[in-house]
Amino acid sequence: MSRVFKSKGNVVTQKYRAGYHNGIDLVGTGYSLDYIVAHSDGTVVGVRKDYATQDKTGNSYGNYVKIKHDNGYYTLYAHMKYGSVTVNVGDRVSQGQVIGYMGATGHSTGAHLHFEVRNQNDTRIDPTSYIDANLPSTNSEPSTPSTSEKTTYTVQSGDTVAAICRKYYSQSTKTEWDLIKNANGLDSNYTIYPSQTLTIPNATSSSSNNNSTELKVGDKVKITGTGNSQASGKGVTAYGIGWEREILKIYGDREYPYQVGNSSGTTGFYKASSLQKR
Ligand SMILES: [Zn+2]
Repeated sequence: MSRVFKSKGNVVTQKYRAGYHNGIDLVGTGYSLDYIVAHSDGTVVGVRKDYATQDKTGNSYGNYVKIKHDNGYYTLYAHMKYGSVTVNVGDRVSQGQVIGYMGATGHSTGAHLHFEVRNQNDTRIDPTSYIDANLPSTNSEPSTPSTSEKTTYTVQSGDTVAAICRKYYSQSTKTEWDLIKNANGLDSNYTIYPSQTLTIPNATSSSSNNNSTELKVGDKVKITGTGNSQASGKGVTAYGIGWEREILKIYGDREYPYQVGNSSGTTGFYKASSLQKR
């Protein structure tokens, strides 16, 4: 079976050669013809279906279908038989859905499928390894950082926008307050309420913030700064600088999230910036 033919297997008649033949030519098992199907789910972004002849001088695809897949890659199917293309630009197609029939329209000497795979930049790549396999998944490919990856913060009782800014930004300037205000539609008094989820734009540099994703329960740490006797921060200053302990528990969004101690008991609560992983 094939990922690009409805009922036949693949026979390669012309290999991929970068710069010379930027796709691969296929016919069905036993040099037969077949319906062409979508390699993977996607959206049709290019179609030509009015090509009735061969064109031995040009470089024409003849009738073709180009699909953009959900990982940003493209596949292209060329030389389809006149009158056989079943899809239009904008159509959503699923893997295995018939999109046309093999033909010899455009620059083609005999009926075959010219199959191309293009990366996220629409650059043709060697399709050989994908003929009967999935395209690369999105997360295994380098891509621009997703704008949907946002930092959020759940407001605790007693929080102020100024205090939240201090957590996430280097200072707590009015510009920073307004970043949070505008991102969350706060009123001019910067009113927030407990349990409200705030989007924190451009939250980056705070060292406590960066470390917080690396430290986990059970990690061995050295205490490098002061902490607090209670996770809430409303206690006495916890000491222990230089001690080597481990993280017992993590209190999510608290100001002093990391409960640190050892087998003999709790030492105190610390920010990530006061803990050095060992
Ligand atoms: Zn070809």
